[in-house]
Amino acid sequence: MMENQSFTGPLFLGKNLEYVEQGYVITEDNKIIDCGEGKISGAKKHSIIPAFINAHTHIGDHFLREKCLNMTLDAACAKRGIKENCMSAASDDTIMDGMKAAILEMLRTGTCCFTDFREGGKPGISLLKKALLSFKHKGVRAKIYARPLYHGENFIDNCDGYGARSIRAEKINMRLGRTLGIHVCETKSGELKNALDFKPDFLVHMNNATREELKKAASLNLPIILCPRSNAYFSLNAPDISAMLEEGISLSLGTDNAMTNTPSMPSEMEHTYRTNMKQVSAKEILKMATTNPAKLFTWNTGSIEKGKDANLLLMDESFLKTPDPYATTVLRLQAQKPDIMFGGKFVHYY
Ligand SMILES: [Zn+2]
Repeated sequence: MMENQSFTGPLFLGKNLEYVEQGYVITEDNKIIDCGEGKISGAKKHSIIPAFINAHTHIGDHFLREKCLNMTLDAACAKRGIKENCMSAASDDTIMDGMKAAILEMLRTGTCCFTDFREGGKPGISLLKKALLSFKHKGVRAKIYARPLYHGENFIDNCDGYGARSIRAEKINMRLGRTLGIHVCETKSGELKNALDFKPDFLVHMNNATREELKKAASLNLPIILCPRSNAYFSLNAPDISAMLEEGISLSLGTDNAMTNTPSMPSEMEHTYRTNMKQVSAKEILKMATTNPAKLFTWNTGSIEKGKDANLLLMDESFLKTPDPYATTVLRLQAQKPDIMFGGKFVHYY
């Protein structure tokens, strides 16, 4: 059994991320065993926030960094686009080295859990599982949403869910007994109706959705995963986040393709906040990287609560002491080098 570790200082407490100017957290083994308001003696002094969850990645294309600069989304990512051609020509080692580099980038920027949409059916899933093995002892974990390598491949028992490319690329009409996510309305509106034939559990993008489509998604209680930096990279419309929130939709953030964006949640939060400052609060954006994806993908993390996994980012005590600690977190965390605790252990990441 590991010794208790205790920290005290400003922090975001509970599932509503309430800011507490003087709080404490006690961990034992890999769990938070106590936390609350107040000071405890002998504890290390820090500003404390929960570690992040990246709700949507494709880390298999990390080895193609900057290969698609100034291309359209279709030229880069559609069937027989640059990505697909390069991936089928690349060796397993090349793809896996890229995936490991992407996971390391996530670890360095405070992401303990991520959901990847993996290409390449069963062999593609095995490759990601192998890459993850190198990070198991560091406490990084992933859910793998895959798609078949060929029509009829029985891949679903090897992964966590079905990650469908788009309504244009795939024709499936069964859920295969697992959860399903799908890219919808990324380049144009009007795709939701067909996407619902897939009976999805969550939608990715919806940056071109009409208000009616948002209302429909809300009526079905469908969460949306947003990747605003990816949309900007391909010069696509930005998601209407304030309309989505008005409709009561649960939103999470993901960094999308590693070939176009770093898998850094601090960078994704900063971009999202800067492009929505007048309409969306920094606290809502922080939830999109912590409590919302934790609920969607049933991770026991994303908040500082008793019984949650001890996944914490620990900064200098003064870091959160500003007029708006949420804005400070989403705007400035990318310039910090926090002590990172995953699963109750400090992670050495440089
Ligand atoms: Zn995607």
